[in-house]
Amino acid sequence: MSMVYDVAIVGAGFGGLAAAAELSKYGKRVAVFEASNELGGSAGKFERGGYRFQSGATVGMGFEEGGVLDQLYESLQLEKPQMTLLNPIMDIHMPDRVIHYYREKVEWYKEIERHFKEAASSIQAFYEEVFRVGSLVDNLLDYRPVFPPKTIRDITQLFPMINPSSIKLLPYLNQTVYDRLKKFNLHKHEGFQTFLNGELMDSVQTSVENCPAFLGYAALQTFHKGAYAVHGGLATVAEQLAGYVKEQGNEVFMRYPIRLIEKKEDRFVLHSKRNSEFEAKQLVLNHSVHNLQDTLSEDLMNQSSIYPEKEEKRDTWGAFIIHAGVEESVFQNTNVLYHQFIDQNHPNDLHDGGQFLMSLSDPQDQQMAPEGKRSLTISTHTNLEQWWEAEEYEQKKQEMTDRLLATVDYYFPGFQANLDLVLPGTPVTFQKWLRRSKGKVGGYAPTGKYSWLNSYSIRSGIPGVYLCGDTVFPGAGTLGVTLSGLTAARELLR
Ligand SMILES: Cc1cc2nc3c(=O)[nH]c(=O)nc-3n(C[C@H](O)[C@H](O)[C@H](O)COP(=O)(O)OP(=O)(O)OC[C@H]3O[C@@H](n4cnc5c(N)ncnc54)[C@H](O)[C@@H]3O)c2cc1C
Repeated sequence: MSMVYDVAIVGAGFGGLAAAAELSKYGKRVAVFEASNELGGSAGKFERGGYRFQSGATVGMGFEEGGVLDQLYESLQLEKPQMTLLNPIMDIHMPDRVIHYYREKVEWYKEIERHFKEAASSIQAFYEEVFRVGSLVDNLLDYRPVFPPKTIRDITQLFPMINPSSIKLLPYLNQTVYDRLKKFNLHKHEGFQTFLNGELMDSVQTSVENCPAFLGYAALQTFHKGAYAVHGGLATVAEQLAGYVKEQGNEVFMRYPIRLIEKKEDRFVLHSKRNSEFEAKQLVLNHSVHNLQDTLSEDLMNQSSIYPEKEEKRDTWGAFIIHAGVEESVFQNTNVLYHQFIDQNHPNDLHDGGQFLMSLSDPQDQQMAPEGKRSLTISTHTNLEQWWEAEEYEQKKQEMTDRLLATVDYYFPGFQANLDLVLPGTPVTFQKWLRRSKGKVGGYAPTGKYSWLNSYSIRSGIPGVYLCGDTVFPGAGTLGVTLSGLTAARELLR
């Protein structure tokens, strides 16, 4: 143990890597510690049987001009990876129709007219509000606020954000999306709500009733700014960020789980495998608030503003996922890469197979699958507890796999017969490979109009220790966690 790093970063998810790249850019001596042998965490990859599979996240956001990732690439002078702009963003397979979810507003409005003729003008008026309020939220996030504010400086940083345009946001801070639907007389429109719930579950992890309006609007408009299939998967981005960190002379330690962090005098000591120890002056913790009590010493945990008993009770989803390889011919009649399925028998179940997303690899992207095949990821939100009852585990896993595959087969006949590799994963898998405690993924699910006020800040409460990732503001998604990583880096650099 000789080198004392300026900053040690625990976890090479998008949050940790964004922070590491930003700190490296400003000349900090940085070390990233990643427990697994893959970069990118929930947005990483693994390879099996000639295929590349995305570990969780598949839809890339923030790469449009001026977007968060676009700006990051520009500031690091990195070339963006090849990617396919999605239009339609996805096809939504509902029991009685297939909605093409177009990116372009004009096309999207025509699609709304095709499917929801009687309510089209109200839905379009609702979308006008989505775009208007979504861009107001973007303007605020450009300030990269530390939220919730913890210090006097955090509070003073909020002052410039108060202006005539941000004041217009106020009505959307104390209403849910459902409240807004009432204003447009859409709260009883089942078909449109089923559609909206699908989009909100994928982006904000919750339904119209529980989703704060401004959050839901920001997420909905993000799809229309540009959703991308990054070639090689989102792991390509993680690899580029880690490459940048190393080029600046810094270190990324793979297969180095941090088991314990304690404070000794003015330094933090990180304990890893085979009794190795590393020292750092400051820390960025990207391995989720769920995991903090397993790594921080009791003394540090007591100093933090996280109360484990309270944290454990917060609403969090798990994910059930299937990685599979399939014959290309099954999808020869569609050039759409992302497909959302609403179970024909249970259209109102938002989780556990009631609705789910299937992401197909781009046929042009040869890193993902052998010739003539496609790699795919199917994922659905799942309640966590059921997966930790050992006796029924295998049976449940098989039942859920069968249910999801059968639903895809219903919409794409011949799908099941043409699968050549099927790898299902549960919250137990997410805990094992990505160290997500109890398999909790995607941050905290909003539970009502004021739930955004319960966010954790990048400030841990421990001097010199910053948090980033999907369990801190602004929350889940590769775009959100990149923002928290960059905000943590900026505050640390002050
Ligand atoms: C099924 C699924 C689908 C999703 N789809 C999308 C999508 O399409 N688009 C999108 O933008 N987002 C999506 N998301 C959300 C997105 O993947 C996450 O919000 C984001 O990737 C989380 O990043 P993070 O920085 O918080 O860290 P994580 O990705 O959780 O990474 C944390 C890293 O820390 C490491 N680690 C943990 N403990 C330790 C330790 N003690 N020592 C060292 N390392 C440790 C882990 O191995 C991991 O690599 C999806 C998530 C899931 C689960």
